[in-house]
Amino acid sequence: MIHDVVIIGSGPSAQTAAIYAARAGLKTVVYGGFMAGDMAAGGQLMITTDVENFPGFPDGIMGPDLMDRMIQQSKNCGALYVEETIEKVDFKSKPFKLYTQNQEIQSRSVIVATGATARRLESLKGHKTFWNKGVSACAVCDGPAPIFKNKPLCVLGGGDSACEEAIFLTKYASKVNMIVRKDHLRASKVMADRAINHEKINILFEHEPVELKGQNTLSHVVLKTKQSEKTIEASGFFYAIGHDPNVSWFKDSGLEFDSDGYILAHDTKTNVEGVFACGDVTDKKYRQAITAAGMGCQAALECVHFLSK
Ligand code: FAD
Ligand code: NDP
Repeated sequence: MIHDVVIIGSGPSAQTAAIYAARAGLKTVVYGGFMAGDMAAGGQLMITTDVENFPGFPDGIMGPDLMDRMIQQSKNCGALYVEETIEKVDFKSKPFKLYTQNQEIQSRSVIVATGATARRLESLKGHKTFWNKGVSACAVCDGPAPIFKNKPLCVLGGGDSACEEAIFLTKYASKVNMIVRKDHLRASKVMADRAINHEKINILFEHEPVELKGQNTLSHVVLKTKQSEKTIEASGFFYAIGHDPNVSWFKDSGLEFDSDGYILAHDTKTNVEGVFACGDVTDKKYRQAITAAGMGCQAALECVHFLSK
């Protein structure tokens, strides 16, 4: 069987593309993956709490609830949803070939909406020793664990994620130290103000981590400034230092990437005719659910146009 379009991904971009493609009458299959490494099926919003800036939800909505609704909507529109990960692609063959662990899939067009994954500092001393023993890249997933209750915690980063995670962790922690390498936060004003004004959050500007220490679990973080080093107590160390695009499956596909590894696309069209890219896998500037969704719409419309030619 040859599909009209296979959509790879499961976040807002993939779901919006699926809604538009299926409603346009295309035989649409979404390969959404399941837990692959740190990636949650449903995308990045599965690991957050309140989403307050997605239009249509005046009181906000929880990230996982929003994604459940989008997945249900794309299914209602006729898209088939498969919880498998695409592990290899062949964009040289026509129709295109894609491979899961056990299956070859053929499709006339492909929309890549594989999003991005949280960064960590693999080379930081102690990172590997205390990974899952105090060190985490997901405050929402791991923050409620008993080892963090009423303990001082650290969040590394100064963006929206760092602010959001620090605020979230105040529910459990005695105190949250945000470790920020610059002398200012990169976060939006509203998020920055919430973090700065929070009584349990202390922001350590111009600090960087040097070492994570402890016995069986993390207990201290060594920090450096331009002038000196100091050690602070911390039972938890949460990375919130941005993301890398999920493109490892496409490295030899013939797709073009920019210098940071994001798929190059113009109006969602990649350099391979019939292959489209949308959302965080191609967008290092805006990286929002609504922009990812908007690009998913664009990709589906471009795909309909391509298939009608
Ligand atoms: P993603 O959401 O990254 O989804 C991609 C998914 O595709 C992956 O998770 C994985 O499940 C799947 N996938 C990847 N590779 C494969 C493969 N080979 N085969 C099959 N499936 C695969 N934005 C906002 O607008 N408002 C917010 O409040 C907000 N809060 C955020 C909070 C946090 C903690 C984070 C990390 C991000 C937040 N964002 C927020 C940003 C927003 O989540 C992203 O911009 C948006 O999810 C990007 O959507 P996407 O569809 O491009 O990809
Ligand atoms: P960002 O890329 O915006 O921020 C990353 C932060 O981590 C920056 O402060 C950066 O510092 C710091 N950093 C990066 N590498 C290191 C390192 N090696 N050591 C120390 N610090 C480091 O990523 P986010 O995940 O915060 O946000 C991604 C996108 O998701 C953004 O568009 C954001 O707006 C959106 N988002 C929106 C939310 C909301 O609206 N509520 C919530 C969460 C995310 P520096 O500034 O020095 O580069």
